[in-house]
Amino acid sequence: MKRSKTIIAAQLVFCLGSVLYLYTPWHVPNKQCSGFIKDSFGYNMTQEKLPVDIIINQDLIEEEETAIRSAIDTWNRSTGIDLFVLRVAKDSSDPGSIRYLKKWEYEKTHTAQTNIIPRGHFIKEFSILLNTDLYQFSTNYSPTAVDLQSVILHELGHVLGLDHETNDLQSVMNPNMNPGEYKRDISFSDISRVKDQYEKFRPKKLSYNN
Ligand SMILES: [Zn+2]
Repeated sequence: MKRSKTIIAAQLVFCLGSVLYLYTPWHVPNKQCSGFIKDSFGYNMTQEKLPVDIIINQDLIEEEETAIRSAIDTWNRSTGIDLFVLRVAKDSSDPGSIRYLKKWEYEKTHTAQTNIIPRGHFIKEFSILLNTDLYQFSTNYSPTAVDLQSVILHELGHVLGLDHETNDLQSVMNPNMNPGEYKRDISFSDISRVKDQYEKFRPKKLSYNN
């Protein structure tokens, strides 16, 4: 089957199938930074604790692990916050947080998506799904394949609660990417959104005025 060279999108879909949506008023934040996915009450969906464990399966090849590690480092380094930590699953049967789906059951134009199970406005569980059914992924700038590092960088944004930025071409949360294209950096606006939302996790500046 010939695949059309149309725009491919890494899209987020909420997995709300069997989710109990609990509203916990004592968690309501007093500040609403823009650019985040909202819960049904209009509050930003965020991680409750940092860093978030990104668990990878033992079977990943070294290049794939390096691409994922680089995406994690980009988020952590650019924001100055320990947002993510990479861990290898103890058990080889554990698919981890990033899963290759050989049978894609979602929108065909999506190269990847992040499914989220919420608890109130917190992201309780998540999984990043990669569409290896219809797309080829690459770790080294292939003109026809999808750049793994770019896709992971985008999906990690969703793991933090970030929504798509369709009008901002620089943003890593722009959902459109052509085959062979790559985006391995996050923009100034991506950084400031995350810094504002996760301000309490930012390391305190050292004080010398004793
Ligand atoms: Zn997306």
